Amino acid sequence: MELKNTLKLDLIELPPEGARLYGEVSFEDLQIEEEPRFFFTKPVSYELRLQPCGGQNVLLLGELQAEINLICDRCGKPGSMKLPADKVCHQYENAYGKYIDLTNDIREDILIVFPQKALCDRNCRGLCPKCGQDLNLEECECGVDAETQGELHNPWQGLDALQLE
Ligand SMILES: [Zn+2]
Ligand SMILES: [Zn+2]
Repeated sequence: MELKNTLKLDLIELPPEGARLYGEVSFEDLQIEEEPRFFFTKPVSYELRLQPCGGQNVLLLGELQAEINLICDRCGKPGSMKLPADKVCHQYENAYGKYIDLTNDIREDILIVFPQKALCDRNCRGLCPKCGQDLNLEECECGVDAETQGELHNPWQGLDALQLE
């Protein structure tokens, strides 16, 4: 038994080997909304298996893969990011004879691995707070490292940068 591109099913009964669900679902169908920093050009792809697990209970196992587009919080450039591969594991009790919609559970699984920060690269160095130089491309002369320096050596450095602007 195989089901492609649908997360909704009328579950009569599962064969002992279970059912395979695979395909793609759009972020829109998952009701995950875009925001200014995050947007979506590719659907989430999934490879799942629905297995009988005693009585009329079934277990949903498998994996989701998704890539999102973003505007980097640090350097302001567009980029993309693969979400960490997410292991799906949900149980549905007394599921036989019922209409089951897996959309909500898949949605939550995606939200769990959704990043807090939009970064073009985990190591993106961002822009110099003084002159605006993209530090990924080239060092500037300011000697300000927004991430690691500053307060340790000179508590007023951050303030100076502000006053100069
Ligand atoms: Zn960046
Ligand atoms: Zn600079």
